[in-house]
Amino acid sequence: MRENTTAQDLKDLVDDLNFAQKVDRSLGLIKEAYEEFGDRMVAANSLGKDSVAVWHLVKRVAPEARGFIVTTRFKPAETVKFMREQVKRYPELRIFKNDDPIPDPELYRTAPDLCCNLLKVQPVQRAIEEMGVDCWVTGLRCTEGRTRTDYREIEERDKGLIKLNPILLWHEREVWQYLALNQVPVNPLYAEGYRSLGCAPCTSISSKGDERAGRWIGTSKCGGECGIHTRPLKTAKA
Ligand code: SF4
Repeated sequence: MRENTTAQDLKDLVDDLNFAQKVDRSLGLIKEAYEEFGDRMVAANSLGKDSVAVWHLVKRVAPEARGFIVTTRFKPAETVKFMREQVKRYPELRIFKNDDPIPDPELYRTAPDLCCNLLKVQPVQRAIEEMGVDCWVTGLRCTEGRTRTDYREIEERDKGLIKLNPILLWHEREVWQYLALNQVPVNPLYAEGYRSLGCAPCTSISSKGDERAGRWIGTSKCGGECGIHTRPLKTAKA
């Protein structure tokens, strides 16, 4: 599959398409990917609202589709509990976690990029390798924050690995609209005021405009990325 929409077209579509049109577009993208890749299309699930919306969309298209969750030793207890509930309901969700020792118990404070690389990026690389993924489906959205404006719905940043971002054009409120209309369970931390969820030491409640403003506050990564959307993932086969 190939991206055939320009960056400017995508920017316009964010506000030109209505909610129902966006849902149809997302389902169409997933269907196209599943027809091409079959079982080698796998959904990444971070257990955040965008991921559970994408997982629900994927399941509508392909009930047998597989997924993976990357978790870390620093995830909040609520997220771990939610993860167990999700895996119980969907055993086809595999969990990947790096439990190896890290150079500093507070690595998230002293070297957050290294911490994310060891605990998030490397397990994603392992998931891609072990699950034989040729197309991974993500919950990335271009209105989510300053670091998420330069993406396409279909990307091939790693040779031989398609990244499908089927809800790229959705606004935050449209994600909640979809989840409410379809009665999709969400991580209970949202009820406490979080808008974007990650590891406990690096996630705060923030009422600032940027949806990801509560991530990595006080570090160079503030409002930024863990690296799974920016680092090479298919290293083993590249
Ligand atoms: S989000 Fe924080 S604790 Fe989690 S892997 Fe990244 S730096 Fe480490």
